[in-house]
Amino acid sequence: MKRKDYIDYHGNTSPICPYCDHKLEDWHEDVSYIEDEQAQLTCPNCEKEFSCKTLISHSYTTVGDCKVHKLRKGYTSASPYTCQVCATEVYEFFLEGGKYQKYTKDQYEIIGPSEEEVI
Ligand SMILES: [Zn+2]
Ligand SMILES: [Zn+2]
Repeated sequence: MKRKDYIDYHGNTSPICPYCDHKLEDWHEDVSYIEDEQAQLTCPNCEKEFSCKTLISHSYTTVGDCKVHKLRKGYTSASPYTCQVCATEVYEFFLEGGKYQKYTKDQYEIIGPSEEEVI
């Protein structure tokens, strides 16, 4: 038996009205930016009020200093390689044999395509 589709009102990237499933736009000024704090919102679609609790998640970017850049190719052919250690962006024409060579072979290694390309 196929499970009925339903909307989960928990943990969304924008508030969804629990009465009419309307996904709110322009809500940034109406919500709290304190974890677990509630704000009252009014649905612009059905005009009912509901409360919205803020959940905060964290993500981290770390940047180091490196002698040999570990380059990973960007998502498109136009986008540069990005060093996975120091976040330097390097265009193909800066690499050895390129038009505006800036890096020699012993200054970088290419560690493969981006994870997105592998999928
Ligand atoms: Zn609504
Ligand atoms: Zn680097």
